[in-house]
Amino acid sequence: MADRYLSFTGTPPGRFLTRRLGLPRPTALKRWSPGQPALDGGLLHLTAGPTALDLAPVLAATGLAPDDDGRPAAVVLDATGVRDVDGLAAVHAALHPVVRSVTANGRVVVLGTPPDPDDHHQAAAQQALEGFTRSLGKETGRGTTVNLLRLAGAAPAAASTLRFLLSPKSAYVSGQVIGIGAGDRETAPADATADRPLAGRTALVTGAAHGIGESVAETLARDGARVVVLDVPQAAQDAARVAERLGGTALPLDITAADAGRQILRALPDGLDILVHNAGITRDRRLVNMPADRWKPVLDVNLASVLRTTDALLDAGALRPGGRIVATASIAGIAGNAGQTNYGASKAGIVGLVRSLAPRAHAAHGVTVNAVAPGFIETKMTAAVPLLIREAGRRMNSLAQGGLPVDVAETTAWFAHPGSGAVNGQVVRVCGQSLLGA
Ligand code: NAD
Repeated sequence: MADRYLSFTGTPPGRFLTRRLGLPRPTALKRWSPGQPALDGGLLHLTAGPTALDLAPVLAATGLAPDDDGRPAAVVLDATGVRDVDGLAAVHAALHPVVRSVTANGRVVVLGTPPDPDDHHQAAAQQALEGFTRSLGKETGRGTTVNLLRLAGAAPAAASTLRFLLSPKSAYVSGQVIGIGAGDRETAPADATADRPLAGRTALVTGAAHGIGESVAETLARDGARVVVLDVPQAAQDAARVAERLGGTALPLDITAADAGRQILRALPDGLDILVHNAGITRDRRLVNMPADRWKPVLDVNLASVLRTTDALLDAGALRPGGRIVATASIAGIAGNAGQTNYGASKAGIVGLVRSLAPRAHAAHGVTVNAVAPGFIETKMTAAVPLLIREAGRRMNSLAQGGLPVDVAETTAWFAHPGSGAVNGQVVRVCGQSLLGA
């Protein structure tokens, strides 16, 4: 369902009224389309205090050349050297004079390091960057996003993430804190610029006949992957249509089938590179009114089948080294939602699964495991929500609008990117910095 309020506020009378009445004034977000540059304007590279991070060559190699002319479209602040409260003053000094001049749909990325458990001054200062970033995200407005990267290692490991966060591909990702590991041989910065980074890779997307899953399949195919469109047998026609359009194949299968893993292995005897657990359902009702037959299917589709198929495919060695698993959580699994104890439990379970499995899957198989946690995304699921609740869901975030399926898809494509090997065990919300949850 179209966001008529967003269209109205883009007109002169809409602008006048919303200003007079103090109503939310969303800025139409710019999304990426092929042929567009990764960064839409100038990049300002700042540092807060002394730094050991060699960022300039990474920005240059990823096609994000600094440009100090005019108003910046993006600002990268290297705060990795901040070790105490005095260091935080340098963060203020660096951003205070420029934040006003960032263009609409701008990008601010702050780089920090993981808080040090053995140095409480460093830990305090680095944790402070989180509160700073999230607060700035709530202030900037005009479609500008603000995110914090915590680098455990050298700058090249962050190349694909910087390119994603500075580009229109991350239009609906704001207020996030993303950890970047030390990296491995697969995180060469040159990877970040490839037009079809997933060429030669096979991706399986569950629940890909409709909605967000369809967009994920589309985006991974755009990036060069051969896609397998898995959906329930009842959606076989739609799945076949999507697969045909993307030059992939359809796999009609109920993911809750006990032998789903075996059926996937039979359909993909040579293995796969990217596994996206997107299929999901809701059966809302408050716990007092929720019979077991509304509880079980939600836990089964959203969580148990994700655990079962992941185990089956990893145990069979079906995910090739450099592989990627991306699961779908939800802000309902982080903040909770009335009427969704079943759904919230299943989606929080995904967060637990990702955090626990990620280091082991990486060590044993060279596979990363991450999750997207969508907020309010404009789909049939959210179009069915009653008007007032839908309006609240749309506006209660820093960007004052709902996201689009492509926003979740672009985030998935960034996780899947060959240059994202150092991104592991992360849960990244695609929620426009929703006011719900942490
Ligand atoms: P959707 O209902 O449009 O699509 C879900 C797809 O999963 C459908 O094609 C459906 O047929 C398929 N599916 C359901 N059960 C299946 C099963 N047993 N086996 C195989 N396929 C099955 O939903 P959507 O809005 O696109 O949501 C996609 C994912 O994103 C879900 O995991 C959902 O929980 C999550 N999510 C969505 C939103 C949102 O705002 N739309 C917000 C947070 C999380």
